[in-house]
Amino acid sequence: MSNQIRTLTQSEVLEVINSKGKKEPYKMVGHSWTPLKHVGKSYCTRCGLVALNNEFTDWCVERGCFHTDHPQYESARAKFTKPKWER
Ligand SMILES: [Zn+2]
Repeated sequence: MSNQIRTLTQSEVLEVINSKGKKEPYKMVGHSWTPLKHVGKSYCTRCGLVALNNEFTDWCVERGCFHTDHPQYESARAKFTKPKWER
């Protein structure tokens, strides 16, 4: 049968609502790294991200300077900042 009409699920409705004019659309722009003297780490002169050695920072590094506009930013932050045993 092909006459079934699929309705939006609750989460799809929320996605549509949340994506309307709330945030700038995400775009990938690579970081502009500068070494931090005496610390042995680098930071981005554009967005201020410090290149720490953890999963959440890796996620932010891969997505560039506008990582906070990425649709998965909140969920990635929630996931990666939780201790491993709570995931
Ligand atoms: Zn950056």
